[in-house]
Amino acid sequence: MTSIIGETFTEIVETIRTEYEKEKKLSEGTLSMLSFLFDFTAVQALDLVDHRCVMLVNSPSGRELYKIQKNATEFHICLKNSNYCTCPSFSFHVLKKDQLMCKHKLAAVLSTAMGLCKEVQYADETVTLMLAGENNSL
Ligand SMILES: [Zn+2]
Repeated sequence: MTSIIGETFTEIVETIRTEYEKEKKLSEGTLSMLSFLFDFTAVQALDLVDHRCVMLVNSPSGRELYKIQKNATEFHICLKNSNYCTCPSFSFHVLKKDQLMCKHKLAAVLSTAMGLCKEVQYADETVTLMLAGENNSL
């Protein structure tokens, strides 16, 4: 992400936080900015937020990650403090630089800003297995 886009995005996230706190919805302007920056990914991310698919998982040792539920048994993992996701779209589109972030990472950022992200604590071993990709069906 270039710094100008990064700064713009940081401002949008702050606007989302304020708007959602006051109005419990996002303004047309904010939605337009999101779709300008992220195109259809914004719609997909907001859909994940609407369906409460995003969960912030932390462990006793302090590891934190986002778990984005794909369906009843499958999920993707996004790291909290960096732009990384386990989904194929991240490898194909984000690493090739034609997309700022995947729908999962965007959903994680949006649901946190909107206060809609559930927080849960898992055992260290469980989080380790999730990060190692050995337990994708919790
Ligand atoms: Zn993803």
